[in-house]
Amino acid sequence: MTKLFYRESKDFAIVGNGEVDKNLNKSSGIHKLEKKLKREQRALARKLENKKKRGEKSATEGGRTRAKNVLRVQKLHQRLANMRNAYRAYIVSMLVKTKPAYITIEDLNVKGMMKNRHWSHAMANQGFYDFTLKLFNACKKVGIELRQVSRFYPSSKLCANCGHKKTKLSLSERVYHCEVCRIERDRDLNAAMNLQQAKEYIVLT
Ligand SMILES: [Zn+2]
Repeated sequence: MTKLFYRESKDFAIVGNGEVDKNLNKSSGIHKLEKKLKREQRALARKLENKKKRGEKSATEGGRTRAKNVLRVQKLHQRLANMRNAYRAYIVSMLVKTKPAYITIEDLNVKGMMKNRHWSHAMANQGFYDFTLKLFNACKKVGIELRQVSRFYPSSKLCANCGHKKTKLSLSERVYHCEVCRIERDRDLNAAMNLQQAKEYIVLT
């Protein structure tokens, strides 16, 4: 029986059968575009700053170069949005193609995460709601059980090997070290394995 389990993470990691599938991680095209966007945004900020220094009144009206700069930033935003959307569709199709018996997702408290500045950017980028919706539709169509575990299930803090539960785990700890059985695992992999083993869930499909 093929099992697949999914966990939302900063890199949109999909974990199947205990291994991180590199092909399903964030595509290089998106990475490149994000870098390009940052460069353009920095250039634009610099131009505005210089303009202020020169004591020019409005920061928005300006020369042709800056107008072009603004246009490039807007276009990049649009291209990124399109790419991310296509990427989500691709991930879903890859997940469904393997015909797993079930797929487990976490009911992430997106609202709560948005308050945390560290997470808000990543979450907004990934369009988690859109992803869940796409996944739901695909699972329904093909007849795959889509499971959702409660957001209070401690998927990150539990040790997938021995069941020990950590009292504290900071976001910066990317590797899970178990104080009891001494196992070391990638944080997301550990959490995904916990999701796979979860006994309490609701079936969405
Ligand atoms: Zn352990």
